[in-house]
Amino acid sequence: MSARLPASGLRWAEIIAVGTELLVPPRVDTNSLHITARLNDLGIEVRAKAIVGDRREDLESSLRAALARTTLVVLCGGLGPTDDDLTRDAVAAVLGRSLHEDADVLLRIRRRFEARGARMPEINRRQALVPEGAQVVANAMGTAPGLWITHGDRTILLLPGPPSELKPMLEQVVAERLGPMAGDARLYRRSLFICGRTESEVDEIASPIYSPWLDQAAPVHTTVLTAPAQVELHLSTRDQSAAAAAERLDGAVAALTAAFGADVFSTDGRSLEEALGGLLRERRWRIGVAESCTGGLISSRLTDIPGSSDYVVANAVCYSNASKTSWLGVPEDLIAEHGAVSEPVALAMADGIRARAGTDIGVGVTGIAGPAGGTDSKPVGTVAIAVSTGTVRVVRTFRFPFGRLRVKQFAAQMALDMARRVLVHADPGVAFVAAAPPGAAR
Ligand code: ATP
Repeated sequence: MSARLPASGLRWAEIIAVGTELLVPPRVDTNSLHITARLNDLGIEVRAKAIVGDRREDLESSLRAALARTTLVVLCGGLGPTDDDLTRDAVAAVLGRSLHEDADVLLRIRRRFEARGARMPEINRRQALVPEGAQVVANAMGTAPGLWITHGDRTILLLPGPPSELKPMLEQVVAERLGPMAGDARLYRRSLFICGRTESEVDEIASPIYSPWLDQAAPVHTTVLTAPAQVELHLSTRDQSAAAAAERLDGAVAALTAAFGADVFSTDGRSLEEALGGLLRERRWRIGVAESCTGGLISSRLTDIPGSSDYVVANAVCYSNASKTSWLGVPEDLIAEHGAVSEPVALAMADGIRARAGTDIGVGVTGIAGPAGGTDSKPVGTVAIAVSTGTVRVVRTFRFPFGRLRVKQFAAQMALDMARRVLVHADPGVAFVAAAPPGAAR
């Protein structure tokens, strides 16, 4: 095996999810995400993961490659009784170990069938085959046992595919074997969620700040991820002391927050609707939303948050022009003059829902989600969003050059963010605040 390994044995792992069914669209490999989360909790980072179909040569070559790079390889799936369940055979071949039938395992499988009043099919004997020197990890939820194999300085863990079997077995392995081997160091994480800037803008500003952190004696790693109209900075650091890691991450979060100011809406993993809900509750304000092109998405997101009945009063989806007039009091001639997708109409919708619901703040959203309905001056993706508190009235027009669902997602996100910014800046003495910086729509 290669000697080019990190100093500490159990810092890195690789995962191989086995099963041809995982290579086609309907089935998703969720096991490797669960395994990754549990390993990360122990401070073990996953360097690579693979999904490999039920072909023995592919499985063997993937395992060989993983063992050449990392000390811990976790395989999941392919431990069933049928001919296409090849994981234990491939592992035994790569490690040069013979398989033998384990009498205890066989007895446990037989008893499991008998407990259900059934006879064990002969085919299930395969599941009692154990590579020489392997230790068995009991499976209380199914027939396929897990296997723990120490091979020189490498460790190979085999777990069955069904998540209901894998999860409790992994807990047992974490408590009894992986935890003690991982040592005291753990991986600690923090995140900053930003709205109103593109991914490249965020990285341009953040990179000079976070790059030097990589060269510290105890580095902080930064990853930039995106969601619709949201950029996320994920920070992680490894330490034996939770307090030392927290101090380092607090400093990193503070430096980045100072650079992005009010564009940062969360430093504790809270979603935008949670952050907005928190501000509404703090100020004892109540909100009403009038939606057109978002079709209730904003309302749905706001009410996803437990306790949102404290501040959500009444929301309306007014899709037709007539409903905008009859439900929200948007003047017919305003729509005739400016069009339904316009800033005056968005403002009138925000004022209208605020008056009808009797709230402190109203939000109005009107746009063209497409694919039809666009014009040269108002192409598909044009969305006008307004926020009104009566004294503070803010409106912006965005162009989201995407498909229908993404236009809805971006519009909902920007509407929630505009409401949040109005609340952040809410000051009775100020008649107008800029809701979002230029570039927010991109
Ligand atoms: P069994 O004894 O049940 O056959 P097994 O180890 O052979 O166990 P598989 O046959 O590979 O497991 O998978 C059984 C089922 O478990 C799959 O149909 C799928 O529903 C689920 N499964 C397998 N691998 C994964 C995975 N990586 N992520 C999520 N689910 C999985």
